[in-house]
Amino acid sequence: MNNLKHTLWSGGWDSSFRVLQLLISAGEPMQPYYVYDHRRKSTSYEIEAIRRIIAGLQKEFPRAAALLQPVKIVNKSRLKKDAQTRQWYEELNRLYTLGIQYEWFARLSRQYGISDLELGIVRHTEEEIPQFNLDLERNIREVEDQYRLIDQPVLHGLRLFENFCFPVIRYSKDDMGTEARKLGFHHLLALSWYCYHPGKNGIPCGECKPCQIARISGYDHHFQPYSHKPVRKFHFPRFKKEGLLNLSP
Ligand SMILES: [Zn+2]
Repeated sequence: MNNLKHTLWSGGWDSSFRVLQLLISAGEPMQPYYVYDHRRKSTSYEIEAIRRIIAGLQKEFPRAAALLQPVKIVNKSRLKKDAQTRQWYEELNRLYTLGIQYEWFARLSRQYGISDLELGIVRHTEEEIPQFNLDLERNIREVEDQYRLIDQPVLHGLRLFENFCFPVIRYSKDDMGTEARKLGFHHLLALSWYCYHPGKNGIPCGECKPCQIARISGYDHHFQPYSHKPVRKFHFPRFKKEGLLNLSP
C-alpha cells in the first residue's frame, strides 16, 4: 500500500480525531503507532481508549475499520540513541522547553524510515499560542494537501520535524469536535483520553497540563465515574522493541 498514512496515535483527542477522519471521511489506509513509555501513568487509559475506538469503528464503520492496520506499539526505551535528533531537540529545548516526546518521535521516524509521519499539533487561538507553535507554523508550508516543514527552517533545530506532516495544524480542538459531529463519529472521539493522572474512579485529575488544556478548550467526553477506566492494566515487556496491539481487553 503505497498511499498508506503513518500516524502517531496516543489515544488522545487530536490524534484520535485524525485517525477517525482519515479512515471514515478520507477513506485512506493507515498504520498507527503508539509510543510506549513505561513511566507514564496513563498508558492503560490511552490503550483502553484506542481499543474502544477501534471496537466502535469495527461495529459502526466496518469499511473504515478495514483500512486500519494493527496498531504498532513502539517502546521508546528501545529506540536507538541518535546524536542528530538529540542536538536538534536540545537546540529547541533551550528556547522553548519542548516535550521530550518530540525527540522520541523524530527518532522513530528515522529508524523506521518514515518521511511523512503524521503528528497531531493543533491550532491555537492568537491569544494563547505558545512561542514554539508560532515559530513552527511560520516554518511550515502546504504542499499537495500536506503541511510540512520548509526546506530551510529559520531555526536549524526545527529540522527535528523534517520527517513529519501536520494534518491538524489548522484545526482547533473545537473545530475537530464540530467536524466529528458532522461526520457522525463524535461519540467515538469522546472515548479518547488525555489526563496524565487519572483518579481512582477513572475521572481526569483536572490539574495536569492536558486537563488544563481540556478545560480551556471545553471538549466533551461525557466523563462519568469509571466510564473510561480500563478493564485491566496494560503491560508491555520492558525490553521488547515493538509489538502489535492486541485488541481483546
Ligand atoms: Zn489530568
